[in-house]
Amino acid sequence: MDAFPNLPPLPVYHLTPLPPLLPPIPDKLLTLLLPIAAYWSLSMVFHWIDTKNYFPQYRLHTPAEVSKRNRVSRWEVVRDVLIQQVVQTAVGWVLGMTEPDDYFGKEQYDVAVWARRIRIAERIIPGMLAIVGLDAGGLAKNLGASHPMLAGVLQGGRYPSFENMIAVSSVSKVGMPGFAGWELMLASAIYWVVVPALQFGLAIVVVDTWQYFLHRAMHMNKWLYTTFHSRHHRLYVPYAYGALYNHPFEGFLLDTLGTGIAYKLAGMNTRQGMVFFTGSTFKTVDDHSGYALPWDPLQHITSNNAGYHDVHHQSWGIKTNFSQPFFTFWDRFLGTVWTGGDVSARYERSRLAAQKAFNADEEKISITHSNSADSTTQDPKPYENDLRDATDLPSVPIKNRQPQPPAGKAELQAAGSRQQILDDQKDGGPGVLADEAYEEKEARSYLRRSPRKRANSTLSSKDGFKGLRDRVPTSMHGRARGIIGVDGSR
Ligand SMILES: [Zn+2]
Ligand SMILES: [Zn+2]
Repeated sequence: MDAFPNLPPLPVYHLTPLPPLLPPIPDKLLTLLLPIAAYWSLSMVFHWIDTKNYFPQYRLHTPAEVSKRNRVSRWEVVRDVLIQQVVQTAVGWVLGMTEPDDYFGKEQYDVAVWARRIRIAERIIPGMLAIVGLDAGGLAKNLGASHPMLAGVLQGGRYPSFENMIAVSSVSKVGMPGFAGWELMLASAIYWVVVPALQFGLAIVVVDTWQYFLHRAMHMNKWLYTTFHSRHHRLYVPYAYGALYNHPFEGFLLDTLGTGIAYKLAGMNTRQGMVFFTGSTFKTVDDHSGYALPWDPLQHITSNNAGYHDVHHQSWGIKTNFSQPFFTFWDRFLGTVWTGGDVSARYERSRLAAQKAFNADEEKISITHSNSADSTTQDPKPYENDLRDATDLPSVPIKNRQPQPPAGKAELQAAGSRQQILDDQKDGGPGVLADEAYEEKEARSYLRRSPRKRANSTLSSKDGFKGLRDRVPTSMHGRARGIIGVDGSR
């Protein structure tokens, strides 16, 4: 016996193999190639902006910092990223072989299945109305003439007139029940919009969860950190194509496996996977770009953006802001979001120190080449302007928009971060902290001596520099004890 009698029949369907989106490349291969193309093309856009020095006001760090503070060469970064992409492609290929081939032609059938589910759900309506003392039959009779559709819904999906229905097959004309127009429209919306949105939502939550806990574990366990994850943190000043600069094992575990599992759990098809893998790649490149461009949509979709992740790449914020790549809910929920307040002086310190080191190198070079002809024509300090433009950037007043964190929280985060750097003998060590402490002292007196810079800084907030406010969303404006901020030095 049919559990649900009198349901409209489902249409017949014929499956046809789905032609490739970009012939002759099969979709499964395109799914593996697109993320790599996305990675390098977006990276090259940022690299071009960087080398042409466009938008220096939106830089998180100066070019001098990129060259002075990072502990890995650009060539090594490119090499390791390519290794990760080879692994990622190989794993994706194996995963793709376990996937069924894609067909089309079943869409109307699937929509009709949803329409049937809607019809079944309608059947509980008369019973529900009876519970609250309403007579569905009587109501339907009164409404029947003016609102026949509504009357049908009230009666649990019983539509007296077939003329109001959309036939799903030629036989429905001879008295078979059919679907109401609204049922098919709702079913289409569920099939084409609601279900895919839920799939993407689930995949995003899975990736964020996977990455958060593994990433945090990498920072909590000393062996994991020094063996694997410290490599990614050789980039104190991230740039776009450094996004996937990882130890190969970490790259496989966090990125490749994380997105692969999310794809499987969300039950995505090949083309959905194409969008998901490519989108995730764009997001992670954007978050490492080093630019908080106000017109970059990826910077505004969530509070996890370049500024947010940049804090995690700093020696003082390394034990905070673990969430990646989409949302920040795990950091907020588990209290690992940066609470150390205004970061202006820290960023300023980093800029000045890098600039000093850069200038010292330049002077050395110009002494050696003092007789060369072009030393007079070339600007000896090509990054001076960048520095001046960029120092306006960190001092934008940040409103106290967030609830105050518990007392001592910032100190704990600072101590944890300090310990992490000390534990990392190879890429960190006490030297890094000693240098930074000295440089920070200098930066503070520099800021005190240069009121013009502070005045300029307020001006730059008029430029609508939203990126900065997003950068450190929990900034406390440097009020808490032990926090070094521009305001603290007033
Ligand atoms: Zn990390
Ligand atoms: Zn990173």
